[in-house]
Amino acid sequence: MGEPAEPVWRVGESVPWLVAWSGEQAFELQKSVLFPGMIELSQAERPGEGVPIFGAVHVNRQRRGLARHLCHVCGQPTPARDRWIFPAASGGMVTMAEGGERYGGNVPPVHEACARRARRQCPHLKAAMARPIACPADEGRLIWRTDVVPGMEQLAKSFPVGLDVVMSCYRLYGEAFSRKVARLRREEAARGRKAAP
Ligand SMILES: [Zn+2]
Repeated sequence: MGEPAEPVWRVGESVPWLVAWSGEQAFELQKSVLFPGMIELSQAERPGEGVPIFGAVHVNRQRRGLARHLCHVCGQPTPARDRWIFPAASGGMVTMAEGGERYGGNVPPVHEACARRARRQCPHLKAAMARPIACPADEGRLIWRTDVVPGMEQLAKSFPVGLDVVMSCYRLYGEAFSRKVARLRREEAARGRKAAP
């Protein structure tokens, strides 16, 4: 038996659970369960249909993954003792109205074993997933975002004028963890400057 000519895409193995597929490009607006009183963008869920669109995050899975601590590689729940994120490579520091800044994470966590497997499978993830840190016991809180997700500008134009539509969300962490993340991000930035020609 020879090698298959086409790459075989398998969710949780060669394709992260979070990635959207070409067969999932149907959208509608619905009442948000996660954020009562808000309207959210909902995307058809047919992972495995068509081809994966690397770089496109499935909007429902992004929100659900963050809310329920589902692993962004395999989609299964991460227990508190095996819940990791990569805060130097994703999310950002959020300036608080009361002063100071906190870390906001917009990518669901990952199992340690899944991170290791993803790094092996995808050279692009090697750097991004290089330094995982354990999620803190303080889970922070979930905050919705109505700004347009990159790549969905055309779709957003079809929304009723003046209606705030939840497209994504992030987890806003507490002060202690945020300080740790800010330090890590500064270190990574300094390292990047050193590595640059
Ligand atoms: Zn996993």
